[in-house]
Amino acid sequence: MAYPLRMFTQRIRALVLKRSIDLVENKKVELLDHDDEHAQFHVENQKDGYYHVEVRLRDKQVTFTHCDCPYRGVGLCKHTGAALLQLLLNDGFDVSEFSELDFKLDDSEVIDLEAMEENVRKIIKEISLDNEFELVEFLSNQDKDKLLTFILKYLEESEDIRLVIMAYMWYKSQNPKPPFLS
Ligand SMILES: [Zn+2]
Repeated sequence: MAYPLRMFTQRIRALVLKRSIDLVENKKVELLDHDDEHAQFHVENQKDGYYHVEVRLRDKQVTFTHCDCPYRGVGLCKHTGAALLQLLLNDGFDVSEFSELDFKLDDSEVIDLEAMEENVRKIIKEISLDNEFELVEFLSNQDKDKLLTFILKYLEESEDIRLVIMAYMWYKSQNPKPPFLS
């Protein structure tokens, strides 16, 4: 679900994006550290404190964002928007280059990763409850190399998969093998 940095405006409501621009223009965004794959920010809040924003990138694509503010609306929060905008500006972008197409007035036009993830979670739950569909059997019939490549690709991004791998390492180290995974 990676996207080019410039396209973050498709994932944020117009009103929120305007607040992000205000935050950047009022110098409320502090870039803490930054390399090709990672950036961390402090974005000032209204209580003399700040929210912490983390951005991960790969090949100039945004692969992950997180802000510790309580925003649970559609799309990105204003702090994440401000952090991504700051990265764009550091790359030579100018706010005057934004056009109408960047401002999503209708919530349904906003690409909402949280809502997408929520849907995926629902489907996964449904799969796990469906007795007719044997997921493990299905997976075991797939090309093993392809599956492992897929897992490796998502290892970096997914805490869950890291836990599965750690559980497997532990399982491998047990002798005799515990019965529940054999
Ligand atoms: Zn936030």
